[in-house]
Amino acid sequence: MIEVVERFLRYVKYNTRSDAHTGMQPSTPGQLEFSQTLKEEMVEVGLEDVTLDENGYLMGFLSSNLDSEVLTIGFIAHVDTFPEMSGKHVIPKVVENYRGGNIVLNEEENIVLSPERSPELLKYIGQDIITTSGKTLLGADDKAGVAEIMTAMAYLKKHPEIKHGRIAVCFTPDEEIGEGTTHFDLKKFGATFAFTVDGSELGELEYENFNAARAKITFKGINFHPGYAKNKMVNSIWVAHEFLAALPKHSTPETTSGNEGFYHVTSIKGGVESTEMEVLIREFDKENFERRKNVIQNGVRDFSKKYDLLIDLEMKDQYYNMRERIEPVQYIIEIAKQAMVACGVKPQIQPIRGGTDGAHLSYMGLPTPNIFTGAHNLHGRYEYIPIPSMEKAVEVIVKIAELSVEKLHK
Ligand SMILES: [Zn+2]
Repeated sequence: MIEVVERFLRYVKYNTRSDAHTGMQPSTPGQLEFSQTLKEEMVEVGLEDVTLDENGYLMGFLSSNLDSEVLTIGFIAHVDTFPEMSGKHVIPKVVENYRGGNIVLNEEENIVLSPERSPELLKYIGQDIITTSGKTLLGADDKAGVAEIMTAMAYLKKHPEIKHGRIAVCFTPDEEIGEGTTHFDLKKFGATFAFTVDGSELGELEYENFNAARAKITFKGINFHPGYAKNKMVNSIWVAHEFLAALPKHSTPETTSGNEGFYHVTSIKGGVESTEMEVLIREFDKENFERRKNVIQNGVRDFSKKYDLLIDLEMKDQYYNMRERIEPVQYIIEIAKQAMVACGVKPQIQPIRGGTDGAHLSYMGLPTPNIFTGAHNLHGRYEYIPIPSMEKAVEVIVKIAELSVEKLHK
């Protein structure tokens, strides 16, 4: 069996589901156990200065095979899997030569991967596809990225005729709970730019993501005996309800796509005296992002005046659109595009309707766009990955390393 598949099938057996509630990093012991194995593998492959720190960041370096000194580039993937779906006892299934039509994942419970619900399946007719057994997720997000990077490094080591500079590799913990870069040691990593290998469909290349903020709004009401409350009671539930109704209804996750931003009310709870609401704000454009935040701020001010009420607002920026940090170094995108074309892959540049570790890293000073792993239907039991897409990802990583050389001379 080809190397990247062999690695991947081994990796998915580790339960590395992360957990936002343990307060530790890594958040679960399974991640550390997996990274320990990866550490040994990195050494076997021939990476140098391999270290696994106490927070679960595994780093290793492939030395340059050039005569002249060049700067370092990096590749990053995360070892954890999505917390809201089981990643325990993953039993991957290889569907050989997919013929089209339904793939039965679990006969007993009639769990079926169908082109009806996943129409992009039909692009992979004739290919070998790895699926789940219907009970768990697959974990291609992001163990496919890990397997692809590891295989690419092994390939470069075995093919010294391919010239490349120094390459830094980092496998991170807890990406799925938003902590993937919390203890990332940029200095040790030492790269001029990097790629996360954490995308989806073949050809994906992403360097734009949402600007994001979270608002927690607490409406303080005034309570009286309901029989004697006329002109006295202010019911915070009603005020919160009115506030919510005043937000634009055409601007929610369920009514937007592409380049459109939204408000997303994620929770509302309370009683007469106090009602707490949480709203997420997402927007690609920086100015519109500020405008959306102002809508919340002004709303709080106006409602507070109208009802002569205390309304508490806590608003915090979560992450920013990395485009701003990538545009000045657009040559990175050109390298990735050229690499894909050279490997016969059509680049698909699109904005991410979310955030990535790359966005954080870009703002920390390491420009980090994202490229595909080849996987589909991430985060659930219908997750699958066509084997040829994985092979292409390996080729593209190798090609990026090769094409980066001329841009990186010191
Ligand atoms: Zn991921």
